[in-house]
Amino acid sequence: MWKPAESLRWQSEALCAKPSNKKYLDWFFSKNFSEKYDAKNLCFSCPVRKDCLQWALEHRQIWGIWGGKDEIEIRRTLSVSYLGEETRRRRYPNCPFCTARPGKLETSVEKLSTTGRWTTAKIVTCSECGFAWRSRTSANAVDAYKAEKIDKAAKLEKKKEKLKKKNKRKKAVL
Ligand code: SF4
Ligand SMILES: [Zn+2]
Repeated sequence: MWKPAESLRWQSEALCAKPSNKKYLDWFFSKNFSEKYDAKNLCFSCPVRKDCLQWALEHRQIWGIWGGKDEIEIRRTLSVSYLGEETRRRRYPNCPFCTARPGKLETSVEKLSTTGRWTTAKIVTCSECGFAWRSRTSANAVDAYKAEKIDKAAKLEKKKEKLKKKNKRKKAVL
C-alpha cells in the first residue's frame, strides 16, 4: 500500500548516519566499485532501507546510493536518463526492493489529498513484496512493457493461425 514519502523521521534510524559508520559516508557517492559495494552492504542491514528507497524514488534522487541501490539502478527503476528525463530507450524497471521482473509490477492511479498542481499520482506496486513507489515514468514504462507483451503474444497467435491454414491447404492438395 502506497503512502506519500514526505516525512524524514526514518533518518533517525539510518545506519549511514550513525557516528560509528562515518567512514562509509563518502562511499555512497564513490565511483570505486569496492567502496560502492561496501556502502550497499551497509544498506542491506539498515532497518529503514524500505523508507529510504521509497523517499529517494519519490524525490528523484538520481545520484548516489539510496536503500542499497546505486544511481544507475535508481535511474533504471525510474526509467529516466542521467539528466532525469524520461528516456526514449525502453528501460523497464524491476522491483528495486526485491528485484522482481517488470511482469510482476502493477500500476495504478491514486487521488492525492493535496491541493497542489497534481491531483493524482501514478503508482507502481510490486506484487511479490508489496513495495510501492510513486513515479509517472516508472508507471509509463511498466504499462509499455505489458502492452508490448500483449502485442507480441497476439502476433505469435496470428503466425500460428497462418501456419495452421497453410498446412491444411497443403494436406488438401496432397
Ligand atoms: S538504506 Fe542505506 S542510504 Fe538509506 S538510510 Fe540506510 S544506510 Fe543510509
Ligand atoms: Zn518487490
